[in-house]
Amino acid sequence: MSNRKKNNPTSVFAPLFRQLKQRPPRDLDTVVHTAHRQAFAKINCLDCAQCCKTTGPLWIDKDVERVAKRLRMKAVDFFKTYLRVDDDGDTVLQQVPCAFLAADNACTIYDDRPKACREFPHTDRPKQAQILELTERNAAVCPAVVHIAEKLETVYRRLDPPAR
Ligand code: SF4
Ligand code: SF4
Repeated sequence: MSNRKKNNPTSVFAPLFRQLKQRPPRDLDTVVHTAHRQAFAKINCLDCAQCCKTTGPLWIDKDVERVAKRLRMKAVDFFKTYLRVDDDGDTVLQQVPCAFLAADNACTIYDDRPKACREFPHTDRPKQAQILELTERNAAVCPAVVHIAEKLETVYRRLDPPAR
């Protein structure tokens, strides 16, 4: 799956995500998608850019070819200049913040940006139950995902029984 690089899970939502993973609710997509729309109605990515500053996308070959072409570079030279293969074998940025992030938080290759950038934080796609681990990790980066997780808390979270 094309995606952002891994982050440590945020601990505050760990019980919620554990519960959701054990028994994904049938209406999970509806609740997540509604919360996604609400979050991005309030949050302007140009005021944030945390994903571009702290994680960066995983790159697939088509991303490399497309962005290299935009920059009028050979793909191999583009790779050597901006990318590397990490310990997991994934193609990632050599450094963050992303080299294509401008001072005003705009993406300077916006129309050709990697697929993973376009899809982040993936909370508007179907089958949310299959990406709960990813969503939990992304809550450590993205304020929109924090909003979504808080909404999930109010809808689904069962309180642990009090200790005797
Ligand atoms: S971290 Fe989330 S809210 Fe911030 S710029 Fe990225 S997608 Fe937008
Ligand atoms: S390519 Fe653009 S959207 Fe993707 S991480 Fe870099 S600045 Fe952000």
